[in-house]
Amino acid sequence: MCVRSCFQSSCLQWAWRTAFLKHIQRRHQGSHRWTHLGGSTYRAVIFDMGGVLIPSPGRVAAEWEVQNRIPSGTILKALMEGGENGPWMRFMRAEITAEGFLREFGRLCSEMSKTSVPVDSFFSLLTSERVAKQFPVMTEAITQIRAKGLQTAVLSNNFYLPNQKSFLPLDRKQFDVVVESCVEGICKPDPRIYKLCLERLGLQPSESIFLDDLGPNVKAAASLGIHTIKVNDPETAVKELEALLGFTLRLGVPNTQPVRKTMEIPKDSLKKYLKDLLGIQTTGPLELLQFDHGQSNPTYYISLANRDLVLRKKPPGTLLPSAHAIEREFRIMKALANAGVPVPNVLDLCEDSSVVGTPFYVMEYCPGLIYKDPSLPGLEPSHRRAIYTAMNTVLCKIHSVDPQAVGLEDYGKQGAYIPRQVRTWVKQYRASETSTIPAMERLIEWLPLHLPHQQRTTLVHGDFRLDNLVFHPEKPEVLAVLDWELSTLGDPLIDVAYSCLAHYLPSSFPVLRGQASSAHAEQTGKLTEFVSNLAWDFAVKEGFRVFKEMPFKNPLTRSCHTWARSQSQWYPIGTRSYSSVPEASPAHASRGGLVISPESLSPPVRELYHRLKRFMEQHVYPAEPELQSHQASAARWSPSPLIEDLKEKAKAEGLWNLFLPLEADPEKKYGAGLTNVEYAHLCELMGTSLYAPEICNCSAPDTGNMELLVRYGTEAQKARWLMPLLEGKARSCFAMTEPQVASSDATNIEASIREEDSFYVINGHKWWITGILDPRCQLCVFMGKTDPHAPRHRQQSVLLVPMDTPGIKIIRPLTVYGLEDAPGGHGEVRFEHVHVPKENMVLGPGRGFEIAQGRLGPGRIHHCMRLIGFSERALALMKARIQPPTAEGREQERGLRRPCFHWSCRVKSRVAFGKPLVEQGTVLADIAQSRVEIEQARLLVLRAAHVMDLAGNKAAALDIAMIKMVAPSMASRVIDRAIQAFGAAGLSSDYPLAQFFTWARALRFADGPDEVHRATVAKLELKHRI
Ligand SMILES: Cc1cc2nc3c(=O)[nH]c(=O)nc-3n(C[C@H](O)[C@H](O)[C@H](O)COP(=O)(O)OP(=O)(O)OC[C@H]3O[C@@H](n4cnc5c(N)ncnc54)[C@H](O)[C@@H]3O)c2cc1C
Repeated sequence: MCVRSCFQSSCLQWAWRTAFLKHIQRRHQGSHRWTHLGGSTYRAVIFDMGGVLIPSPGRVAAEWEVQNRIPSGTILKALMEGGENGPWMRFMRAEITAEGFLREFGRLCSEMSKTSVPVDSFFSLLTSERVAKQFPVMTEAITQIRAKGLQTAVLSNNFYLPNQKSFLPLDRKQFDVVVESCVEGICKPDPRIYKLCLERLGLQPSESIFLDDLGPNVKAAASLGIHTIKVNDPETAVKELEALLGFTLRLGVPNTQPVRKTMEIPKDSLKKYLKDLLGIQTTGPLELLQFDHGQSNPTYYISLANRDLVLRKKPPGTLLPSAHAIEREFRIMKALANAGVPVPNVLDLCEDSSVVGTPFYVMEYCPGLIYKDPSLPGLEPSHRRAIYTAMNTVLCKIHSVDPQAVGLEDYGKQGAYIPRQVRTWVKQYRASETSTIPAMERLIEWLPLHLPHQQRTTLVHGDFRLDNLVFHPEKPEVLAVLDWELSTLGDPLIDVAYSCLAHYLPSSFPVLRGQASSAHAEQTGKLTEFVSNLAWDFAVKEGFRVFKEMPFKNPLTRSCHTWARSQSQWYPIGTRSYSSVPEASPAHASRGGLVISPESLSPPVRELYHRLKRFMEQHVYPAEPELQSHQASAARWSPSPLIEDLKEKAKAEGLWNLFLPLEADPEKKYGAGLTNVEYAHLCELMGTSLYAPEICNCSAPDTGNMELLVRYGTEAQKARWLMPLLEGKARSCFAMTEPQVASSDATNIEASIREEDSFYVINGHKWWITGILDPRCQLCVFMGKTDPHAPRHRQQSVLLVPMDTPGIKIIRPLTVYGLEDAPGGHGEVRFEHVHVPKENMVLGPGRGFEIAQGRLGPGRIHHCMRLIGFSERALALMKARIQPPTAEGREQERGLRRPCFHWSCRVKSRVAFGKPLVEQGTVLADIAQSRVEIEQARLLVLRAAHVMDLAGNKAAALDIAMIKMVAPSMASRVIDRAIQAFGAAGLSSDYPLAQFFTWARALRFADGPDEVHRATVAKLELKHRI
């Protein structure tokens, strides 16, 4: 693999037609007819790796750049940079580590593209199992070469991975010799490395053939006397190699193998039967091969007197009554052939077991291509799209068939297909269950409660997947749909869902490339937990759409208790709405679906959580002292460069814009696509540091403003404001509160928005506008009145005001208990004749109240999530303070280290009145009380998030009000106890406690005054619970 390989564009474009033709040609070169034609003098074949055995970095880079919106060609250019002494070549000679390479490479890419390039993610993709896979055609070729007694070698320019292992995603057993540049410290085209390879093979140059995708590497080999093949695409290269070697490198009929011992069938009686059936006289042999497919009903390829046939039979032994019904397969294929559905031409059903031991049927062999890997490696995106479009077209054909018209009206039960399927799955699962898997229990409980109403009954295939289709060799057209074993009458949705499965499963998932009932079965069984988590994730996220569609009778009539609900829309009678049992308990996982611990999150979100945790430990907590000093310095009104640096790191690690709820961004266009419950766990973790939310672009007031733009903004507004905010390049503020009126009631707002020609002109006096002093603040989301005479809730409007508009006068920064909260601050500001273009109005005049409600809903519970984080951190600091110190704590004590805010660094154990603080009863009581209060509040936060996920923000109004009432005062109490345990130090800025406390107190206003939330809870309680 080398930098110039990146420019082998032909390698990126696998010829559609060629691929098909090669595939079909193979079948006519049956392996049984192969002979060693050439008698050649070659004794070894030497392969390059990237671009020959596995995809080249160029191909990987091209796709990755498109997906990550990186200017095309950036990666290749950066790989080329510096030639032999550039970072890439030095990396391949192991002169620099992976870390060093990525640093230099990342910088180069960013300089070249003028944007931040997450090279880590490219590197992960390049070295991932999904991408770094050997081309099947090369595997076949190597097998054949070795079968002829020749040696094989790999001679690769490669590198060391961060785990110190070399990057060689190949089965070493395929090669007699492996020569790697990073091990030898020499790269191709240096002649020494070729000589080394020949030496290890014990051969002269003329006795070997070398394949590489790069001209210079090929040239260097040729100049030493080695025979060479320049690889443009693996298929063509294998053909050239065949010509040189003089024997074929392909297997016979695709997807077949010699008949397995246990699956042998009597050839003589079969031949006699076929001669009678086909009416032919032949003395020639009957050739029999077995297909890899069709494990449950063994399937054979037969060649007899120039006829290519397929036989499909029941397996031997005792069978379950309704299983392996090959008679049904025969019946449906025969019926469908007349209805325009492409199926193989079936010839006869033989129920006489004396011929081959069991009943069977015979059909004509349908030559064509079967794609085993649903990711369609080697095909261009447009070809992949064409293949899947053809697949969908044929599915529509199947579902359009009128069962009655083709005589299949009695082919299955009518109606309730999906409930029956779910019952069958559960029954089958229970029958093979070996231990309780909580995630599976959760799904088993959830599924029956959320079944779609059956819309239609049609013929369904029941196992509709790509590798059950035979494609035309030259165009994207399905020639035959195979394997009708599970076909019946049912809900067409099931085929649609099943055919989409490959899209949701990870590409390495074993069942994608085989059958669950095959040799993979054991492995697949072990993946049950993974699959059930995946299904759960899918169910609850897609559930947004389902629930949004459902008529939600009256959200307020439901029970609000935390004990068993008597009646609920979501849970069966007697089950709890959520459980507060400890993490990892099966009971929790199976009841109600509220994830109360990060460890119970779905695997991808759990991974994200742990990534964030590592990031906090490695980057955020250690940076806190410096960030705190910056906030106290004269430079405090300018953003800290360290924050900007950390933002880039967070972005590169995918810890960015996590806040946007999936429900507002279902296509994950803008954010990470987390549910509110998932985000609650991550947001709490970010909340353990005052700086992490901004570092991960998840801080208020930007988050609320971004959500407002996603929900209500026009495309132009999004392009102008949302994109820079999402990129973390700009900041914003929200201006509602006014000094002269009680602003907790938004209808009191007085600032005026008046129409004047093509502008709105605003005049008003605002204060407590968080973030307005930040030099990066480019947008003010302004709330004022357009029509004071309209109904109370239709008077207000929201305008997007560019901060550089003349007339915006910041009067002063306000302080909270003396803290300025720089650089954003909380500003008092006058708007004097500020002219704003009309297109900056959000939604339209009079919609401001509605927007403010939407904006403040989810955003406000984010504060509650963070408050749980504040409290956890405060309690951890308190525990550390009163316990014996760690080594780091002792160093701090001796002044060797600056005080560290990390909670694992115990700072100093204190002794008072003859006893360590940890033994003082009141301190212990404080700790216990704090733990209990945190847990209570967390459950309430999660419950609010859960109801938002399941029923939407509006239906969650009560839950949101309850947690807003509880979280800030709970946090104030917990932090206050921690401050008390710290003594006077707790009030200083050496620890984050004082700032936590200030924020928790301020949030009893900023998040709406406590009284307002109490009033809401009481009002709803009185209204609906007598
Ligand atoms: C740190 C901080 C940051 C802020 N950031 C922003 C910002 O970015 N943008 C913005 O527009 N505003 C912001 N605010 C302002 C905040 O939203 C308001 O302070 C809040 O809405 C209350 O309004 P008010 O201060 O006018 O109090 P008022 O409405 O005057 O209320 C004062 C008190 O009256 C009582 N009260 C009010 N309603 C009721 C009721 N229904 N029942 C019983 N008693 C009641 C309560 O005790 C309440 O605390 C921020 C405030 C703080 C402290």
